[in-house]
Amino acid sequence: MNPILISFDLDHTLMVNPFRRWVFPDVDKAVHPLLSSGGGTPVRRMVQEHLDRLARREWVSAYDWDDILRTITGEKKSHLPFTVEDRVRHYAKPGRVWLFADVLPVLNRLHSQGVRMVAATNGWEKYQRPVTDCLGITRYLDSFHTPDTRGFAKPHPDFFDFPNGHPLVHIGDRIDQDIAGANRAKVVSVWINRHLTEEWRLRSLKERRTHPDFPHLVHRQLKQEGWEDSPSDEQIPDYLITSLEELEKVLNLMHP
Ligand SMILES: [Mg+2]
Repeated sequence: MNPILISFDLDHTLMVNPFRRWVFPDVDKAVHPLLSSGGGTPVRRMVQEHLDRLARREWVSAYDWDDILRTITGEKKSHLPFTVEDRVRHYAKPGRVWLFADVLPVLNRLHSQGVRMVAATNGWEKYQRPVTDCLGITRYLDSFHTPDTRGFAKPHPDFFDFPNGHPLVHIGDRIDQDIAGANRAKVVSVWINRHLTEEWRLRSLKERRTHPDFPHLVHRQLKQEGWEDSPSDEQIPDYLITSLEELEKVLNLMHP
């Protein structure tokens, strides 16, 4: 059996979930009449409550979107017409959720080589599994590691201390969660960014990592994630890939 265990972030690494495009607009529409004016839209209030919970290091409840919705609606919560979980299930349908084109060929090849793969996501399993089921990728994933099953969320290093083994490599699109978490846990960190210029895409893995502009690239990404400071050492990825196809190059470099 292949000893390698790879953990994958899900959202914007393998797939696009229905939250931003479908679920949150439904929440805004249905919940807005229940709330007092001022304080922003329902989803803005939910995101603020999520950030407040993260600031209190409430790693699990920060991603419990149904509890967050109940909290912001207070005594009106009994009037809610649906749960977030309902809405995710409703929208976990072809055409409403997407898989990146490079995902299935790579998961297939790694699976045929006996590489163990798991999901390592900050979305609770009940919000993620309907989407991975719809997209046909659940069967490649040995297990789901989520805040509700781990008791932690990325970037806490204990998040990666999986009961079925320590991953060798973690792949994700976010610097603040995926890369910082993997580096803290001493897991090889692979940042996937499918939006880079051809200049970057033409460079080898090593050339990208040693390029003088590499920290600027990471800084630009961090700004998009809401951070102003320059990247710290733990936010610098071990590898940058521009397509999931390049993950196999990373594995070859590690085990030539
Ligand atoms: Mg992600």
